[in-house]
Amino acid sequence: MSVPTVPASALPPPTHHPELIVLMAGVATSAATLWVVSLLADAGIYVMGWYWFLLVPVGALLVGLVSGLGYAMAARKVNMKLTYGFVSGMVFISLLDYFANHYVSYLSVLERVHPSVEYSFVSYLQDICETMTFSRTADGGPGEPIGLLGYLFKGLEAAGYVAGATIPAKMAVDSVASTPDCLNCRQYYAPERFGYLNAPEQWADVAELPRLERILAMRDSRTPLLERTEAIMDSLEGASCAEARMAVSKLEKTAAMGNTGSVTFTLRKCPGCMAFHLSASFVGYGVDGDFSSRKLRSVESTGLGQAA
Ligand SMILES: [Zn+2]
Repeated sequence: MSVPTVPASALPPPTHHPELIVLMAGVATSAATLWVVSLLADAGIYVMGWYWFLLVPVGALLVGLVSGLGYAMAARKVNMKLTYGFVSGMVFISLLDYFANHYVSYLSVLERVHPSVEYSFVSYLQDICETMTFSRTADGGPGEPIGLLGYLFKGLEAAGYVAGATIPAKMAVDSVASTPDCLNCRQYYAPERFGYLNAPEQWADVAELPRLERILAMRDSRTPLLERTEAIMDSLEGASCAEARMAVSKLEKTAAMGNTGSVTFTLRKCPGCMAFHLSASFVGYGVDGDFSSRKLRSVESTGLGQAA
């Protein structure tokens, strides 16, 4: 198949680094959230220290969730697939954010309380753990320092923050996790075009036939659809995205209603490059009137060296 192409230089540059966009968005929302948290802490409201039944760090989880919105929205926007490596990076950065937040508090403590005293960040961390108290819900007054248990609670707080920061992105991409993705760009394919092959026979007519005749009629109705699907898929093995687009655009535009069956072709393209994924699935009646769908075949191309 011959199709007009444009030089690769005329194409927009592919977004081969969607992870950078996602990281920057995540770090931006984390910085903004932690800044608000530090303002609240200055006003005496330590959100990070809210615990549910003294064990679940709901405050830290909440702060983490808001911090992580940037990762989630950006990952969804650029259709990025969250790999194990990227999630590990997010966990590490969130942990850094958590300690950076404490470091900022440390600097302000150093300025206010210990201007001329030797006071390290590690000493500061030890102090906030060992002198940690829970305020009494009965009268709102401060409780007794909990000593070494403070390390456990600060650890829970850090874990809560990190978990909160990674949950929104996880949820955002889980909603599209069954979508195929481009291995080059680590981005999910976005739907580009749909096409249909419809069997001309109506199920209502076939259903009236005696069972044996019905079986033969269904086979005669379905076979040409499946053969055409195979031929189209064969012709697109190794094809360019433009060729796949053209092939799909020659198909019918809508799925017929009430016929014995239809094949749906779904063309998805990578947002970052010319890679594409074309799948064909059959939806239709069985001999006994049961309606079902099944995947038939798919064709995938990395699109390397191709122009639209
Ligand atoms: Zn790609």
